Amino acid sequence: MIDLRSDTVTQPSQAMRQAMATAAVGDDVIDVDPTVEKLQCTIAEMLGKPAAMFMPSGTMTNQVAVRLHCNPGDEFICESGCHIYNYEQGGFAQLSGLVAKTVTGPGNVMLLEQLDGLVHPDNEHAVHTRLVCLENTHNRGGGVVLPYDGVVEICEWAHQNGLKTHLDGARLFNAVVASGIEADQWAQHFDTISVCFSKGLGAPVGSALVGDREMMYDMRRHRKLFGGGMRQSGVIAAGALFAIENQVSRLAEDHHTAQIIAAAVSTIEGFHLEPEQVDTNIVLFRINRDICSAQEMCDALYQAGIWVLPFSREHVRAVTHLHITAEQAESASRVIQQVAHEFLAKS
Ligand SMILES: *Cc1c(COP(=O)(O)O)cnc(C)c1O
Repeated sequence: MIDLRSDTVTQPSQAMRQAMATAAVGDDVIDVDPTVEKLQCTIAEMLGKPAAMFMPSGTMTNQVAVRLHCNPGDEFICESGCHIYNYEQGGFAQLSGLVAKTVTGPGNVMLLEQLDGLVHPDNEHAVHTRLVCLENTHNRGGGVVLPYDGVVEICEWAHQNGLKTHLDGARLFNAVVASGIEADQWAQHFDTISVCFSKGLGAPVGSALVGDREMMYDMRRHRKLFGGGMRQSGVIAAGALFAIENQVSRLAEDHHTAQIIAAAVSTIEGFHLEPEQVDTNIVLFRINRDICSAQEMCDALYQAGIWVLPFSREHVRAVTHLHITAEQAESASRVIQQVAHEFLAKS
């Protein structure tokens, strides 16, 4: 099987397992685990921020972030296709009593002009608008890298309006490698940034929430409340540390293999890359309804040894990662074309 379901399906290498097996550990709930501490310092420095906190998942870092910036009854603004709104069970409402105001950006890219008038006035009727969340790269946007100038504009607008800014940077390092814009340059516009070590970076577990030192006390309280206090977590932090020390620049290979698959998809009649230009490691394509459904395409590809996921009734997502070689991407491309032509012949 060539597994293109997600960049989370990777296995830790022997070298990463070795780093995990030999990591110095302590009780990070009582006081501190030295390997977790080292990971937190390293990722904070990479993002040019004073501090960071290690958590089990990107869902938790996002949920802790919205909780940190908002009080129950408050509102935050986000793009309607974003992970926080779509894939976290509305945790912001369940866990923190928050309301989301969604904005649908063209190609899932939120534009400054869409925010005009969205901050509620301070009166006894309205909810308080507190926060803007962005996602970079944007998953439902097909791994699109947000335009840097747009990010700067939106964050400036937010801060001028008294709002905080949070970046869901689950795949921030894909954006860094694709754009050539450093992580700290992206990060400087945000109050908090969430990064995932378990996506393209290839660690087995973990995310970090990065921000200012003054946030850490409340952040740690919320992490504990949400069940994210972990004891000898240096064992998993060591995998994450290995990933950020050794597996960042190689993300360019994943972007290359995604281009191979995208080029193949773009030649098929009735198949449409959305977005047309693939920026990073996610290839999202729509199939004309009269050809087959996304589920039918995924089932047929699975029979042919290619594992991808339906992303809507008519959209299929393929994600490249560190186990996918250029040869495998070429071979997956041939199979996708072949299976597509079988459907086309029948339609
Ligand atoms: C994967 C992902 C997350 C967090 O996912 P977890 O599985 O909880 O680690 C958050 N945001 C985006 C955009 C993601 O792709």
